[in-house]
Amino acid sequence: MENNKHISNDANSDKERKPAPNFIRNIIIEDNRTGKWNQRVHTRFPPEPNGYLHIGHAKSICLNFGMAKEFGGVTNLRFDDTNPVKEDVEYVDSIMEDVRWLGFDWEDRLYYASDYFGQLFEYACELIKKGKAFVCDLSFDEMREYRGTLTKPGKNSPYRDRTIEENLDLFLRMKNGEFPDGTKVLRAKIDMSHPNITMRDPVIYRIRRANHHRTGDKWCIYPMYDFTHCISDSIERITHSLCTLEFENNRPIYDWFLDELDLYHPQQIEFARLNLNYTVMSKRKLLQLVQEKYVSGWDDPRMPTICGLRRRGYTPESIRNFAEMIGVAKNESVVEFSQLEFAIRDHLNKIAQRVMVVLNPLKITITNYPETESEELDAVNSPEDENAGTRKIPFDRELYIEKDDFMENPPKKFFRLSPGSEVRLRYAYIIRCDDVIKDENGNIIELLCTYYPETKSGLPSEKKVKSTIHWVSAKHSFDAEVRIYEQLSLIENAGEIEEGKEFTDYLNPNSLQIIPNAKIEPSLMSVNIGDKFQFERLGYFCVDKDSTKDKKVFNRTVTLKDTWAKIAKKDN
Ligand code: ATP
Ligand code: MG
Repeated sequence: MENNKHISNDANSDKERKPAPNFIRNIIIEDNRTGKWNQRVHTRFPPEPNGYLHIGHAKSICLNFGMAKEFGGVTNLRFDDTNPVKEDVEYVDSIMEDVRWLGFDWEDRLYYASDYFGQLFEYACELIKKGKAFVCDLSFDEMREYRGTLTKPGKNSPYRDRTIEENLDLFLRMKNGEFPDGTKVLRAKIDMSHPNITMRDPVIYRIRRANHHRTGDKWCIYPMYDFTHCISDSIERITHSLCTLEFENNRPIYDWFLDELDLYHPQQIEFARLNLNYTVMSKRKLLQLVQEKYVSGWDDPRMPTICGLRRRGYTPESIRNFAEMIGVAKNESVVEFSQLEFAIRDHLNKIAQRVMVVLNPLKITITNYPETESEELDAVNSPEDENAGTRKIPFDRELYIEKDDFMENPPKKFFRLSPGSEVRLRYAYIIRCDDVIKDENGNIIELLCTYYPETKSGLPSEKKVKSTIHWVSAKHSFDAEVRIYEQLSLIENAGEIEEGKEFTDYLNPNSLQIIPNAKIEPSLMSVNIGDKFQFERLGYFCVDKDSTKDKKVFNRTVTLKDTWAKIAKKDN
């Protein structure tokens, strides 16, 4: 990926906030101007159901559905299910759920390439009848040898000159299961010295006895991607067939099949796939992470899958905004992960209620606050949304604060709590630290503090302090599990993998940190799975599906500030 251009991680700058270029939008505008498709825009999203969708697919979904919507067109969801060995209904279901969750609707246009197996077979026969396809008995290895290389032309297969009658007969017998797997294929008859290797008599059909998740054992021959894809697009009257750059070499074969069969002919347009730094994005590798249990499943919040991001606390809006922000280009680039984080932070800032949670509790006792007393203070739910109102939080003699908001021997610029210093407790009072209590091993276990009643939040007060910290009532708080995540991969992109090593050798051992007993304010005991909050000063968090009535589990979605900038600085 050496020549990959980096997109700035400064997502905050005005430059990044302008709508990013999208050359496909320009093509559609031009097509509408010339009337090429009679003002029709009909796209499709064609996933292979062999894994869960990831953030790269989200780019393609937002593009296909987004462009059609923008121009009053429609989009099909089509499962490209021609390889029964790797495909499964579990994936079909998850893909539909994820596309819907992203906010897109294929209405009644749900298709399966496997629905076209009959038609595809007929088209293959038609090619044979035109003398444009033949049955070949070369083995897989022989075929590769005959194919030639980029610099060397290929050789014709010795079976290339079979008669049309013989080809038709053999192909029919392939279909009827008369030959073992792998012994024969149907190939297009194009040109074995074509400069584009994909045009050197590509395979159209192979024999494969495998149970298909939709067609069962009806077929023992299956069509190849290149043949299936263009014909499926044609059957569905697609106008703009958007695919990623690696299919640029396949465009001539896409066009060849449709031209030879004289079929309605959509236009294939290639765009650069999304690459995100520090992110594993190949389906094969993601499957490996799941199968070898490096993660808890496809929806592990560290996974770049749509369901992983959803569980982590990402919103559909944030992902759609991200897609818009990165734009669509014709050349490969690597997008920085901080851009995705910018998008979710931006959205959560607007919608997430603020609450107080202490991750690493240190007990403090307010010695001048009566033991029997307790009061309810008003806390603002969201500074970004006046309608969000306030809630009551209990305050009493014993509280928890964050361990690292206290230092016994603070450096000069430490403005939080230390012996003799004063801080404000958010929504409450200013306190002073008088004493430090330690256990027999010298560990700090408690602070004794004094509070100033006249400094109650909202009252005018002379007293000023340099810092405000969060807290919860010891008696009224509940224990919760909080999961803190770091990037799963320690390398910036797959190109950095050394020879003899695998991507799994570079997984971050600290990608998941579990805090078993964080202290949450009581309002958080009545949350639902998926609810999103800002834990003041700590980041944005989302209620995990592992939560029970008695113990809530939270995932940190993202920190409050960009931590990647810091990492980059450290590296330099
Ligand atoms: P494979 O074909 O190797 O299984 P794939 O990631 O291409 O993997 P598909 O299910 O074929 O998976 O992808 C569906 C659609 O999503 C295709 O049109 C593909 O081009 C697009 N797509 C896949 N990965 C990305 C990506 N990283 N960025 C943008 N689009 C992508
Ligand atoms: Mg693909």
